[in-house]
Amino acid sequence: MARAKEAPQAPGHIKKDDFVKVIAGKDRGKQGKVLRVFPQEGRLTVERVNMIKRHTRPTRQMQQGGIIEREGKLHISNVMLICSKCERGVRVGHRVLEDKKKVRICRRCSEILDK
Ligand SMILES: [Zn+2]
Repeated sequence: MARAKEAPQAPGHIKKDDFVKVIAGKDRGKQGKVLRVFPQEGRLTVERVNMIKRHTRPTRQMQQGGIIEREGKLHISNVMLICSKCERGVRVGHRVLEDKKKVRICRRCSEILDK
């Protein structure tokens, strides 16, 4: 796989509830909402992406037990934030606004990606 020339993005450019595109792995090309970010691991889970089957024991809540599907973690570098204006996965930059608020911007069209 070809390596990007640019330096890797700093962790933290993707947050919970972001809409991202998967750019590597078996679910490459899929898009979904970020469910959870694990900053220490540099990983995250995306809705309906990288589904893994998990065997569970019967519990009081779930009498049956059995196999459930859940989202497996992806490495943060395997997803890209989607810019709603570009309608594609883009690289993320940062900008400090006049009120000192730090926001994420699309490096392609400079659209502010934080609502
Ligand atoms: Zn854009």
